[in-house]
Amino acid sequence: MRITVIGAGVTGLSCALELAGAGHEVTVVADHGPGDTVSARAGALWFPYDVTVENAPDLEKRSLIRFVELAGQAEAAQSEGADDVTDDIAPVEMRRGFLRERLDPPDRSWVPTVTEVLGEDAVTEVEREGAQGAERGVETTLPLIMTPTYLAWLMDSCRIAGVAFRWKTVESLDLLVKGAYNTAPPEAVIICGGLRGGELLGGDDEVTPVRGQVIVFANGSDDEDGDGGEDGGPVLTDWYVDDDDPENMTYVFPRVDDIVVGGIAEVSNGNEDPDAETAEAILTRAEALVPALKELPILGHGAGLRPSRSSLRIEQVDTDEVNIPVIAAYGHGGAGVTLSWGTAERVAEMVEQL
Ligand SMILES: Cc1cc2nc3c(=O)[nH]c(=O)nc-3n(C[C@H](O)[C@H](O)[C@H](O)COP(=O)(O)OP(=O)(O)OC[C@H]3O[C@@H](n4cnc5c(N)ncnc54)[C@H](O)[C@@H]3O)c2cc1C
Repeated sequence: MRITVIGAGVTGLSCALELAGAGHEVTVVADHGPGDTVSARAGALWFPYDVTVENAPDLEKRSLIRFVELAGQAEAAQSEGADDVTDDIAPVEMRRGFLRERLDPPDRSWVPTVTEVLGEDAVTEVEREGAQGAERGVETTLPLIMTPTYLAWLMDSCRIAGVAFRWKTVESLDLLVKGAYNTAPPEAVIICGGLRGGELLGGDDEVTPVRGQVIVFANGSDDEDGDGGEDGGPVLTDWYVDDDDPENMTYVFPRVDDIVVGGIAEVSNGNEDPDAETAEAILTRAEALVPALKELPILGHGAGLRPSRSSLRIEQVDTDEVNIPVIAAYGHGGAGVTLSWGTAERVAEMVEQL
């Protein structure tokens, strides 16, 4: 089937790759390349933060299984001595970390999925002495996705699988179907437009921006001899999440070359620029919880809008505008990377059923 996917964020690229792998002829149309999407702002840890999925409850689990597989492939390639595993292997690693809990009872709704996939002992309740004194929570090992290189890997994988790309704004489904964007008329359309996903369907009042802001640190510093930073600042590996107060949440995701530190979750704030006062507050909280950050240089600041929705929209849509099937896949909130492979598999199943 000839399919057009609208969107080149993590959702669109994962759907395109899955559909191409199932033998479809896929074109992605998007007005922002992957590096310029919300997806590129994500840390990204597999974790179902700020998302509700009503009609497809297994998306978290399906994605977790796929990310664990990708992390296994990367580890195997590394142990075989591959110099740069990101060239043809997805940059995903299983990383240990600590999720601080401040609520009573804590929200452990995500734990059954993790233990189902990774085993009963995968999540351990702990009380420990942190930099600011006693802290309680859970320790676990989850996939950490190095988003900038991961999105590049997804793009490359799509191209290798034969996916075509058109960098255009889709103004209407009708124009798309008539071939206005230099695409052959599609037989089905998948809308992976993130925050703007509902615009082509006459608007969707249920989509709301939830603003996040991050600071990016170098992971290790002054590593002139390239040995992993021992001659400079420390190299962090474990992640840390303290998000029971979303207005003042703190997370530290050490990737291979950099560390993403957030954040906030400001509902209905559509400002995409980082703000100095917020950055200062994030820095103060993060350095208090993970003092090693004080020894590392800041590489930059960023902000992004999580495409939040009352429930993730993943369904075939009734529209009179075009007479081909249209599938919506948007509204992933703070978990678009987390749910990407589950979304892609579900979309591919829906296409098979058309
Ligand atoms: C600070 C921050 C931290 C986050 N951390 C995590 C995390 O750790 N783990 C996690 O899972 N998630 C995280 N998220 C959430 C995650 O980033 C989003 O859920 C995810 O990126 C949504 O992906 P998407 O592909 O659906 O949308 P986007 O990445 O926004 O992509 C949308 C695409 O659609 C295109 N588009 C839209 N409308 C049109 C149109 N009319 N014509 C052409 N193109 C169009 C755009 O150009 C773009 O290519 C975080 C988000 C933020 C802001």
